[in-house]
Amino acid sequence: TKEDVKSYLFRNAFVLLTVTAVIVGTILGFTLRPYRMSYREVKYFSFPGELLMRMLQMLVLPLIISSLVTGMAALDSKASGKMGMRAVVYYMTTTIIAVVIGIIIVIIIHPGKGTKENMHREGKIVRVTAADAFLDLIRYVLASLFFGFKTNYEKRSFKVPIQANETLVGAVINNVSEAMETLTRITEELVPVPGSVNGVNALGLVVFSMCFGFVIGNMKEQGQALREFFDSLNEAIMRLVAVIMWYAPVGILFLIAGKIVEMEDMGVIGGQLAMYTVTVIVGLFIHAVIVLPLLYFLVTRKNPWVFIGGLLQALITALGTSSSSATLPITFKCLEENNGVDKRVTRFVLPVGATINMDGTALYEALAAIFIAQVNNFELNFGQIITISITATAASIGAAGIPQAGLVTMVIVLTSVGLPTDDITLIIAVDWFLDRLRTTTNVLGDSLGAGIVEHLSRHELKNRDVEMGNSVIEE
Ligand code: ASP
Repeated sequence: TKEDVKSYLFRNAFVLLTVTAVIVGTILGFTLRPYRMSYREVKYFSFPGELLMRMLQMLVLPLIISSLVTGMAALDSKASGKMGMRAVVYYMTTTIIAVVIGIIIVIIIHPGKGTKENMHREGKIVRVTAADAFLDLIRYVLASLFFGFKTNYEKRSFKVPIQANETLVGAVINNVSEAMETLTRITEELVPVPGSVNGVNALGLVVFSMCFGFVIGNMKEQGQALREFFDSLNEAIMRLVAVIMWYAPVGILFLIAGKIVEMEDMGVIGGQLAMYTVTVIVGLFIHAVIVLPLLYFLVTRKNPWVFIGGLLQALITALGTSSSSATLPITFKCLEENNGVDKRVTRFVLPVGATINMDGTALYEALAAIFIAQVNNFELNFGQIITISITATAASIGAAGIPQAGLVTMVIVLTSVGLPTDDITLIIAVDWFLDRLRTTTNVLGDSLGAGIVEHLSRHELKNRDVEMGNSVIEE
């Protein structure tokens, strides 16, 4: 009908607007760069972008809670168990594929030239045997599970105090408002100022919301009020998201322009670093443009590009904000409205995905660690490469969906094979850019995952509809 055509044009005009924002932002950034704005001027200039970040952050917390609670409550335990399994299998499979791609690409292209060979003579690097590497691996996996790694870095030097910050125990929170406070503090730090990036995750809140949703889902009439409350809260948040989406192109334009204005001079970036950047881009490209769409096609037999087309707004927001958590509200909107993914699926899998499923980050961490090994002329044995793949997976799960969190959790990967953590400074100059690309890959992975899980769970979803007396035709 005429209305359909109108809304189709409307939607596409919107995507066009967002793409234009990226282009205009880039041009504006490079045009203003020669004027060498002061720190204060850059801050003023970036204000509209900062505003978008804050608006998105504002919604993340209530969104995670309300969507998980309603998502869990809408499923019976058998369906949610199966769906959860499928999601976890998808997350693990794609993360491992990403790590393997990262490792293969960095070995083939070999961007690191071994300029620091004297490190060995100075005794700064100790070679370890495969057996040592294995023991180290167990130690690090345990340490990262139970204690977590907290790192601080000021400007260009990394200090790595390991604090007892129980990650696993932290999955069960003892104080809901404290957990919210932690999350609020993290999201407040979304702006990538060196020294303020702390890798903390939202896992505690995710677990709590899921348990809560599970319980009220099983409460029959008594749970009705709560189910309606969270449902309605979720609906209200999504309406706010719709409003913010109108502002998003403006915010993205200034986020990108502001970053280009303040970034370091490209002249500083040497040949090795340029090669490294290309290697990361190639790796992420293979994963995001070839592997993930192919996987989606193989499982669902649907055109992945149509699906990805519906996601454009979310992908560009990820590029602009370099935070998968901040992008979450937009990801929801795109999946539910453009791609028609069942709400019971998105509400259930997206918040978890944004917290633990980070393909781009996993690929990046493995690749960067091996690059640093190459720069140090440090030959990795097979055991160490396995160690890197496992710790990179763990590090990507542990990284929060905030800008440059991956850089911080990379300490786990480097220390697990005895590489110098100070060398993170080698890649810090290009990280702001690569962070955006891996965040986009992370969001793409979560979204295609939602599509795949929906497809695999279609029978349970239909049965549930019949059971609840819903009309089986989608709302
Ligand atoms: N910025 C990324 C994200 O939000 C995490 C990372 O630093 O890799 O997904």
